Amino acid sequence: MSLKGKTAVVTGSNSGIGLGVARELARAGASVVLNSFTDNDDDHKLAADMAREFGVDVRYIKADMSRGDECRALIETAGACDILVNNAGIQYVAPIDEFPVEKWDAIIAINMSSAFHCTAVALPMMRKAGWGRVVNIASAHGLTASPYKSAYVAAKHGVVGMSKVVALETAKEPITCNAICPGYVKTPLVEAQIPDTASKYDMTEEEVIEKVMLERQPSKQFATVEQIGGTTVFLCSDAAEQITGTTISVDGGWTAL
Ligand code: NAD
Repeated sequence: MSLKGKTAVVTGSNSGIGLGVARELARAGASVVLNSFTDNDDDHKLAADMAREFGVDVRYIKADMSRGDECRALIETAGACDILVNNAGIQYVAPIDEFPVEKWDAIIAINMSSAFHCTAVALPMMRKAGWGRVVNIASAHGLTASPYKSAYVAAKHGVVGMSKVVALETAKEPITCNAICPGYVKTPLVEAQIPDTASKYDMTEEEVIEKVMLERQPSKQFATVEQIGGTTVFLCSDAAEQITGTTISVDGGWTAL
């Protein structure tokens, strides 16, 4: 599978799943635009290192995905966007009657509205190029719910719904739009929580993984960022040309329960 000649923009990609997806797209030969809201030397070094490792063009563009104007500017500055991966996301957990309004607004903006803004600017570029792929990184929480995650669950269900609308609006064109719904994925952030949770509940790290984190994941294994990246590359392949407006779960059986 070669994505040579394609440009991929991955929002929120200086760590975690976004970085894993960006690396798999680069491995497949795509030029990549990395993004986050910071503008550190480390961000630009990440891009330079990835370019060297995979022999492709990699740029880092700062843009805050909580702001519609910056989302739109990201795609405009990229200049081309054959593959758009809407990945940026944050989480906050609280009962709905105590949920801070600013956290609700930030989660809806970063996890959902950024996908609207980026897609709106990217689609005309895809149409001009005669090919396009929109891949939205939703969640098992785009299909099911958990208590205390009102904003996250609402945003992820919204992203799944928007993926269907974009698919219908582009159905007759060589453009597809789908949502990947990961269960628990082992990212540096998740890994860092394991020892803290273990000491908080007086559990071993293995117990935290199996009984707390992966309680709802029947495989009792984390998905990996490479697997989410590989699923994204598959959605960009010719084999996936007629896959549009749907969800692909990478959740170890979570949504089969
Ligand atoms: P992460 O915290 O490791 O990465 C999030 C990325 O988004 C980072 O690069 C961060 O810099 C960026 N980001 C945050 N706020 C931003 C902003 N305002 N503007 C631009 N970038 C911003 O988290 P992750 O686990 O890799 O999550 C990535 C996506 O995958 C999210 O949408 C998340 O909801 C989804 N997801 C994660 C899991 C999981 O278990 N880790 C499961 C299902 C879905």
